[in-house]
Amino acid sequence: MFADLYVPFPVNGSFTYGVPAGKELLPGCRVVVDFSGRQTLAFTVNVHESEPKEYKVKEITSVIDDEPVFDRRLIKLSEEIASYYFSSPGEVLSLAVPSGRKPSGRYRVPFEKSEKRNINLDHDQARIYEEIIDQYKAGSLHHLLFGVTGSGKTEVYIELARYLIERGRSVIYLVPEISISSQIFSRLYNVFGDELIIYHSSITPNQRLHSWNKFLKGEARIAVGTRSAVFLQCPDLGAIIVDEEHDGSYKENSSPRYNARRVAFYRSKNEKSLVVLGSATPSVESLYAAESGALKLHRFTKRFGSSKLPEVEVVEFNPGDGKDYLSSTLKLFTKRAVDEGNQVIYLLNRRGFSPFVLCNQCGHVVECPHCSISMNFHGSAGLLCHYCGMKKKLPEVCEKCGSDEIVKLGSGTQRVEDYIKNAYRDFRIFRLDRDSVKKKNSAGELVEKMNRGEIDLLLGTQMVAKGFDFPNVTVVGILMADIGLHLPDFRASERIFSLLVQVAGRSGRGEKPGRVILQTLNSEHPVFRYIRDHDYYSFYRAELEERKLLKYPPYSRLVRLLVRGHDEERVIETVNRLRSEIDSFVRTSKADITVLGPASAPLSKIAKNYRHHIILKSKNTEELHRTVAEVRKISGTGKIYLEIDMDPYDLL
Ligand SMILES: [Zn+2]
Ligand SMILES: [Zn+2]
Repeated sequence: MFADLYVPFPVNGSFTYGVPAGKELLPGCRVVVDFSGRQTLAFTVNVHESEPKEYKVKEITSVIDDEPVFDRRLIKLSEEIASYYFSSPGEVLSLAVPSGRKPSGRYRVPFEKSEKRNINLDHDQARIYEEIIDQYKAGSLHHLLFGVTGSGKTEVYIELARYLIERGRSVIYLVPEISISSQIFSRLYNVFGDELIIYHSSITPNQRLHSWNKFLKGEARIAVGTRSAVFLQCPDLGAIIVDEEHDGSYKENSSPRYNARRVAFYRSKNEKSLVVLGSATPSVESLYAAESGALKLHRFTKRFGSSKLPEVEVVEFNPGDGKDYLSSTLKLFTKRAVDEGNQVIYLLNRRGFSPFVLCNQCGHVVECPHCSISMNFHGSAGLLCHYCGMKKKLPEVCEKCGSDEIVKLGSGTQRVEDYIKNAYRDFRIFRLDRDSVKKKNSAGELVEKMNRGEIDLLLGTQMVAKGFDFPNVTVVGILMADIGLHLPDFRASERIFSLLVQVAGRSGRGEKPGRVILQTLNSEHPVFRYIRDHDYYSFYRAELEERKLLKYPPYSRLVRLLVRGHDEERVIETVNRLRSEIDSFVRTSKADITVLGPASAPLSKIAKNYRHHIILKSKNTEELHRTVAEVRKISGTGKIYLEIDMDPYDLL
C-alpha cells in the first residue's frame, strides 16, 4: 500500500510513501516520514495501491493516529487556503490540526460553574434572533451583527447556537486572543456545560487534541476558541460565530497568513454553515460588504437593559515639557470614582514606536501626498513615508498654520506609567499588558480581583479594551489618544476609532453611568468627534471616502511583499530586482495593478533582519495572484527571504 502525504513545508503537491507492511493506514491520519533527511510530521490525504514508477518510494517511519483526525473537507479547505495565501496545504494542515500525539486530560475549567441561567432576550435581541433564523431558513448564510458595546450580542449568539445544537449541528464560537480568559467562557459553560470545549494556544497540545477529537466525533457541539479554532472538525457544522470581527488577532502573522474570518466564509461555502460576524465597531470592509448586500446587516439600537452609553469628554491636554500626563479633569473624575468605591481603567496606547511630528498649535500632522499616511521622523534623514519611500525635510513651521511649535511624539510611555503610580500612591493599581498576561492564569486572576473590588485602577495597553465586562467601572481614561492615530498604516484611524470605542464601552456597563475622558493634543480631530458622539456611521462614511480616493480596501486588495535578511545591501538589491520584475510582468500582462515602494518597512529591523517592502494594490484578485506567483521565485537566494502577505492587516 502507498500513501500520498502533505508535508508542512512550502512545496508543491503531495508526496508518495510506502505504508509499512502489516500496518493499517487511513486518509486523515498523521504519520512521521523522512523528508529530505529530516524526520517530519506529514498528513495522509490518500491511500492506494499504485506504486510510483519514476522513483523508489521511502517507507513511512511511524503512524501517529489509529483513527483519522481530519477528513476530505479539511483537505479541500487546506488546499483553498494555501492557494489564496501563497502557502502549501501541508503548512495549513500543520497549523489546523493540533500537534499533540496522545489526546489526554480534560481541560479543567478555570471558572466555577454556577446554576444554569435562563436567558431572556430583550426586544432588540429577540427581533434580531428571529430575523436571522428566518433569513437562514430562506437560505441567507452570512450575517453581520452591529450593536454598540453592551447591547447584548452574546445572548443572540447563544440562542442561535442553542437553536442549531438542538438540530444536531455543531457551532464554533471565535473570540479574539485575550477575551478567551474573560467572562465569555464561563457564560457559555453555564449554558452548555459539557457540550462546550475550549480551544486556544495556552492549553497543551495533548489537551487540544483531546478537545479536537471530542468535537470531531460530535461528543461536544460547541467550541469556543481563538483564531485556529476556525479549523475544528465536526460531523455537521452549523455556524461559525466571529465575535469582535474587526479584531486584528484573527489574522495570522506567519505563513500561512490566513484570516480566520475569511476561512469561515470558505467553510460556509463548502459546508453550508452560517457565518455570524459581530462587533460594536465593524471593520470598514465588513460593513461595506453588508451595505453592498454580501452580508445581512442586523443593527441593535441601544444597550441592553437599563444601562446607557458612557458620556465621552474630549479634553485638550498638552503634556508640554513631559512633566504632567494627567489633565485636571481626568484626575478629578478618577479620584471621585475611587472614593465612591468604583473602579477606573486607563488606556495607554504603546504602539507608537516610531516618532511622528505634530503641530502643537493646530494639531496638523505631515502626511505623504501619495499615500495619505503619516510620515515618520527619522532624525537627520527627515521625514519618511513607509509605503512609497518618499522623503521630505522636517518643516520648520507648520505647513498648515505657520506656527513654529513642531513637536515630536510617540515614545517614552514607560515614564507615563511611573508618573501614574506616583500620582495615586494609595490606589491599588494593576497593570495589564502583553507581558503580564503571558504569566499563567494572570488574566483569570485579574478578572477575579476586579470582580472582588481589589483593584482601583487598571492600567493597560490595547488589551484592556477587549471584551471585559466589569459593572463597577465608571471611569475610563484615555491617555495620549493621538498616538496610534498617526501610525504609518492606512487603517490607523479605523483601529484607533475601534480601540477607543471598545475601551470606552468598558465603562458604565452596570447600573451606574459611565464617563470617558479622552486626552488629546487635538480635540478638533474628526475621529475624536465621532467617538464623542458615538457616531460610527459618520466615521465610516468619512473613512470610505478617503479609501476610495486612494484605492485602499474595500476598494482594492493589497499584497505586501516583504524582503528581509541580515545583509541590508542584499536586501535592497533583492527588493529592487523584485520591483523591476513586477514592473515588467505588469507591463506585458497589462494587469491593473498599482505598485508602491520599495521602501523600508516602518519596523525597519526586527531580530537583526532588515526589512524592505513593496505593496501591490488592485481590484482584481486574480491578477494580483498571477503577478505574485510570477515574481515570487526571485527570492530564496542565500539568506534573503521573501514574505508574501495577502490582505495584510499589519503593514508595520
Ligand atoms: Zn499648525
Ligand atoms: Zn507615500
